[in-house]
Amino acid sequence: MVEIIGIVLTLLTIVFVAYPLLQKSQRKVSFAVNHQNEDLLARKNEIYAAVRDIDFDYRMGKLSEEDYASLREQYKQEAVKIMHALDRMAGHTPAESKRSGAKDGNTRFCHACGAQTQREDEFCSACGARLK
Ligand SMILES: [Zn+2]
Repeated sequence: MVEIIGIVLTLLTIVFVAYPLLQKSQRKVSFAVNHQNEDLLARKNEIYAAVRDIDFDYRMGKLSEEDYASLREQYKQEAVKIMHALDRMAGHTPAESKRSGAKDGNTRFCHACGAQTQREDEFCSACGARLK
């Protein structure tokens, strides 16, 4: 009996010691993801700023139309890549979020005009028909 208590205490001690370590490593992982997320958001803002810059340069006549168009296309493609990466990090693709949006039961349609409304809406925001 004493041996069993000793084993249980040893196991409990191991769990007590190991548990915070496990939690810490999990936190580290989610922190790394958040950090990556921040990097991507920062990069996205940089791209938007760069696009504003080339817009300005183009309007000022500092950029030729071809240069402007190709630069803009490059930035656009990078922005799209970043958006997709951010979507993946948020744990869903746009297609999946659309499906879950239709499934959540909060979306209804106006019987009068067919506009999309929310379950809690009393009146249709498009035509004003009473929904309840
Ligand atoms: Zn309506």
